[in-house]
Amino acid sequence: MIRADLHLHTTYSSDSSITPKTLVEQLVAHDFIKVAAVTDHDTTCGISVTRQLAAAYPDILIIPGVEISTPNGDIVVLGAEETPPQPWTVQNVVDFARDHDYVSVVAHPYREYGMGDLARNYKFDAVEVFNGASTPTANKLAHDLAKLMGLPGVAGSDAHQPAELCTVYTEIQASLDVDEILKAVKKGLVTVPQPRKSIRF
Ligand SMILES: [Zn+2]
Repeated sequence: MIRADLHLHTTYSSDSSITPKTLVEQLVAHDFIKVAAVTDHDTTCGISVTRQLAAAYPDILIIPGVEISTPNGDIVVLGAEETPPQPWTVQNVVDFARDHDYVSVVAHPYREYGMGDLARNYKFDAVEVFNGASTPTANKLAHDLAKLMGLPGVAGSDAHQPAELCTVYTEIQASLDVDEILKAVKKGLVTVPQPRKSIRF
């Protein structure tokens, strides 16, 4: 089993202060979170440099990814090493993930830039049921949405500053391998530990 922060931003997102080096250093230093998905806003440009830095440490793993801003809300695509073809409609991003065996995740559905109930109209692979930057109420609603859609729930910090990294994570029944992790998420072999300071789901 691995523990992964499945949503975070590096300095390749214009609103984040987390350098790839800081991210890698935090994973190396962390007691039990050794996997992180780099999900910058609308770009995958930070993936290769982060992976190169991480390659020196066999016990950590970077999952490629991206957070795409669609007009209807944000979508995290885990596994993506490139951005989807334009236009970035919800349908196009979901199709892109499916065609490439990536994992499409409804990001923070019940806060700003979230798509809310609209997500029910699309074939997503998972719902972000705990987002470190969302309120407990918004996370509770996201949890209910995942249940309603019959989809696995995943969690990520949505960190934009170093102190926020790895504050939220997903437990995944997989080894330290990107393909295995993506397949495990799709199969629902995931658990989101109860966050210490938050409400109960
Ligand atoms: Zn984000």
